[in-house]
Amino acid sequence: MFPDRILPINDPRLRRPSEPVAKIDTDTRALAAHMFRIMDAAHGAGLAAVQLGILRRLIVVDVEDGRGARHRLALANPEIAEAGSGQIAGLEGCLSMPGISQRVARSETVTVRYTGLDGHRVSLVADGMLAVCLQHEIDHTNGIVFIDRMSRLRRDQARRQYARNLRLASRRDRSSESAMQ
Ligand code: ZN
Repeated sequence: MFPDRILPINDPRLRRPSEPVAKIDTDTRALAAHMFRIMDAAHGAGLAAVQLGILRRLIVVDVEDGRGARHRLALANPEIAEAGSGQIAGLEGCLSMPGISQRVARSETVTVRYTGLDGHRVSLVADGMLAVCLQHEIDHTNGIVFIDRMSRLRRDQARRQYARNLRLASRRDRSSESAMQ
């Protein structure tokens, strides 16, 4: 019912802002459950609906905050209500660019407003990896990907490394095909 494939970083759909979720209904909850399954299967910490080609403002995360408490959440129409002045630059990855991790400057703490799957609009104060992950996924809903936030040097490194990984993967695919014949 929903697509399984995670779009690669160069897919133009990842550059388009998503549409608001009009209401939390069974379809929204089914999409969130599907997104959790895809994220878990890919061992990710977060996923935005647009990464499946569904341009709706819905994200899921499963990540620890600064005190080590785990947050497994679906957030509809999430927005940064407030960002702390402190900055961090932690290593970040993206399921649309597997195998790449690169430093990205982010706010150390953020207050995020979102609608939960129960339909209530709430605020969440986040720090640690939770804050980083929420900023990364909310960027996705606005058509921004993490390489846009990197310095030119790091972006070029990430692109080269990713292209190399893709070449190696396709070479592996070809050799396993020929081994089967
Ligand atoms: Zn991502």
